[in-house]
Amino acid sequence: MGKINQKMVKTVETPEGVEGQGFFATSLDKVIGLARSNSIWPLPFATSCCGIEFMATMGANYDLARFGSERLAFTPRQTDLLMVMGTISKKMAPVLKQVYDQMAEPKWVLSVGACACSGGIFDTYSVLQGIDKVIPVDVYVPGCPPRPEQIIEGLMKIQELAKNESLRRRDSDEYQKMLESYNIESAEK
Ligand code: SF4
Repeated sequence: MGKINQKMVKTVETPEGVEGQGFFATSLDKVIGLARSNSIWPLPFATSCCGIEFMATMGANYDLARFGSERLAFTPRQTDLLMVMGTISKKMAPVLKQVYDQMAEPKWVLSVGACACSGGIFDTYSVLQGIDKVIPVDVYVPGCPPRPEQIIEGLMKIQELAKNESLRRRDSDEYQKMLESYNIESAEK
């Protein structure tokens, strides 16, 4: 195993703030955004072949752990990123929605692959034509299947959203209306 020196360790950029000798001040939402974006815990909802690409993404070559996201869980209450990878049948849709419902705010959704995004090649009576018919999606990753690099890019887009999100967004009328349009009850109510 090679030695790890300081140059190999990439640290995150300091948020905007005011700096002086012995102090640094910034706003609370920037610090929270920084912490959230670098410790995203995914819930892999993998139903078919795109799930295999995700397994490669977790392997040593692509190493999702670099982004602070190696801690996967199948427990919705302990995760904040729902990664949907694969064909979702209409029978499976209520299950997916229930998993989303059980996740605590703040939470994000990454739709991976053509099937999750739009039903893909399965334009049939039994397949949901996109998971955004039942839950809100933050980032779509195209491809059949997308390569691990694309999945990583999708995760990095989620990181950007998490980093720059206002702390008030989830309480806003706009967000509540969006949840209502999906018939999802807000966690705050
Ligand atoms: S998008 Fe393609 S690779 Fe992914 S689950 Fe659908 S058929 Fe399989």
